[in-house]
Amino acid sequence: MLTSDFHTHSSFSSDSKTTMEDMVIQGIKLGLTKICFTEHQDFGYPTIEPGMDFQLNIAAYKKQFDLLKEQYKNEIQLLFGIELGMMDSVVQQNQEIASSYPFDFIIASCHLVDSMDPYYGEYFKLHGEKEGIHHYFETIYENIQLFTNFDVLGHLDYIVRYAPNLTVNYTPLDYFDTIDMLLKKIIELGKGIEINSSALKYHLGQTHPHSLIIKRYKELGGEILTIGSDGHAPEHLAFDFPSVREELLTCGFQYYTVFENRKPTFIPL
Ligand SMILES: [Zn+2]
Ligand SMILES: [Zn+2]
Repeated sequence: MLTSDFHTHSSFSSDSKTTMEDMVIQGIKLGLTKICFTEHQDFGYPTIEPGMDFQLNIAAYKKQFDLLKEQYKNEIQLLFGIELGMMDSVVQQNQEIASSYPFDFIIASCHLVDSMDPYYGEYFKLHGEKEGIHHYFETIYENIQLFTNFDVLGHLDYIVRYAPNLTVNYTPLDYFDTIDMLLKKIIELGKGIEINSSALKYHLGQTHPHSLIIKRYKELGGEILTIGSDGHAPEHLAFDFPSVREELLTCGFQYYTVFENRKPTFIPL
């Protein structure tokens, strides 16, 4: 059983209404041994909807985290993390926040491409489906040349969730030139990728990333991988982790990774 969820949100993230404590209580109920909170911070996020600015009140977050960590220390280990949105124009701000707080774990994600959130339709209108997906992978590759103060790359290929035909026309094989460069760079930097189970809850028939990418990562020598639900509500915590475990075993992995004080530990699957 996978007992660590390393990608979770609470109401400190703009897109969650759940209290941190409700996530913790659910984690204990599920028998988890570790939860890492990875609240959103997306510098430069455009104003589109009121309240959805993805700017983290980190002092308040840290205060609440410290309280709960202590309160529940005999039942579950809580880890202090963050999900930083990468973009070339915010490298300095990301550097600053990454080095200013005692994070256990940092996920670097790409939520904005050319300052556009593909969640909204205009991105794919502009690029078309295949080119839009390709441009997303290229953008991540460019971002990790500029910003490296992270532990794992978040939900690689989650852009397909917003593609005009979802995953119907998607195979990672069409993008392997860019994906290979990206994975090689991640390995060279000593970083990892995360296996994000949220796509399973949307019935997309894959994790992020797709199993073909996970297999390729293994072939290239990748070892560091964390597992996260990207849950924004208690019912999504550790979502379908048994399927993720099966997938990783099928892809040839025997261990997954957890982090504390930014240092990886490998745990048998
Ligand atoms: Zn994300
Ligand atoms: Zn997230």
